[in-house]
Amino acid sequence: MSFTIAIIGRPNVGKSTLFNRLVGQKLALVDDQPGVTRDRREGQGRLGDLDFTIIDTAGLDSGPRGSLTARMQEQTEAAIAAADALMFVIDARAGLTPNDRAFADFARRANKPVLLLANKSEGRHGEVGIAESYALGLGDPIGISAEHGEGLGDLYDALKDLM
Ligand code: GDP
Ligand code: MG
Repeated sequence: MSFTIAIIGRPNVGKSTLFNRLVGQKLALVDDQPGVTRDRREGQGRLGDLDFTIIDTAGLDSGPRGSLTARMQEQTEAAIAAADALMFVIDARAGLTPNDRAFADFARRANKPVLLLANKSEGRHGEVGIAESYALGLGDPIGISAEHGEGLGDLYDALKDLM
């Protein structure tokens, strides 16, 4: 079985954008499993010479604004359980929110390697969020832009160390 990475974090931070970038054009084998993993997407990711399975936690049903619904919690826990390592994504432009901290608690409790990714960091717009994100206790953040493909060299270096 290939090395498996779960992308987790609150809605709207860019998880699916990152998933699509890592999976490339072969986009999203949709996993139609029943129950809590219903809208989890899984695909074969690649970064440089690294190949891995990647899981996007969709959070399609995100419920009341800003809340961590039971569904999101279950989906995140299921993805974490299936993973060898986690990519924890924040929106570096937005800075940390209480919801980020709630998801970070899951990531910490998993006792699995975590890459802290400060997304939306293109053009230095992420500097404040990057600075804040040290407080999550998930290690040093890696500034990336999933949309513009920036920071992927740093992501590669960090991922290579884990695999
Ligand atoms: P998810 O809910 O975490 O899966 O987030 P999405 O991947 O659906 O992205 C949410 C929004 O953020 C979309 O409008 C994306 O276009 C935008 N987004 C994602 N990545 C980036 C990025 O690197 N930079 C900027 N500026 N926007 C991004
Ligand atoms: Mg998504």
